[in-house]
Amino acid sequence: MSKVLLVEDDLVTCDMVRDWLEHELYTVEEAHTGEEALDLMKLYQYDIVVLDWGLPGKSGVEILSRFRADGGTTPVLILTGKRSVGEKEEGLDAGADDYLTKPFDMRELSARLRALLRRSHSPRASVLAVRNITLDPATCQVTRDGEELKLLPTEYALLEFFMRHPDRVFSTDDILNHVWKSDSEATATAVRTYITRLRKKLDVEEKASIIKTVHGIGYKLESRDD
Ligand code: CA
Repeated sequence: MSKVLLVEDDLVTCDMVRDWLEHELYTVEEAHTGEEALDLMKLYQYDIVVLDWGLPGKSGVEILSRFRADGGTTPVLILTGKRSVGEKEEGLDAGADDYLTKPFDMRELSARLRALLRRSHSPRASVLAVRNITLDPATCQVTRDGEELKLLPTEYALLEFFMRHPDRVFSTDDILNHVWKSDSEATATAVRTYITRLRKKLDVEEKASIIKTVHGIGYKLESRDD
């Protein structure tokens, strides 16, 4: 079941789209302002975002640019009343994956969402590999040198996050925001604890850890052993 974030300030449209998508068996969460949407998009993993262009405060396109600039990769379909080619280009340049002009037929929305999900699911489902570690998002199986590792759910989520962004340095706050639920009470100590546990499971004795501490900044998963 795919999880959709629906961002729309017009409550009538929002209810209508929500009812339709729920009827199509999507799990739907709503946001009614850009800021609210951006917070949710940073904190939670959605399969797709349906984003209205015209929102109070920051516009859908501004929200999308910020989300993409921060490395967000969730597919986004923009809804808009704007019809001009220039505006369509602006939306796509901001990182939209598709674009639907209001008023639209709900069946058209469904077809677009299915196409976006097909496109995004195939690479997501492929096995991630960094050095001697593999992680299969489809089966949640992790191996080290071909042997299966048993990870706890949070260890797994943390590893998947690192493996999707090898060699990128993340602060403990970044990690908390991406890996832990926003309502969790976890702190930087929890991040450090889980990194220690994960290292115990991933690392080979007497070799430098695959998860490198970048002093004063955070952590990164090193794709090269040098
Ligand atoms: Ca609107």
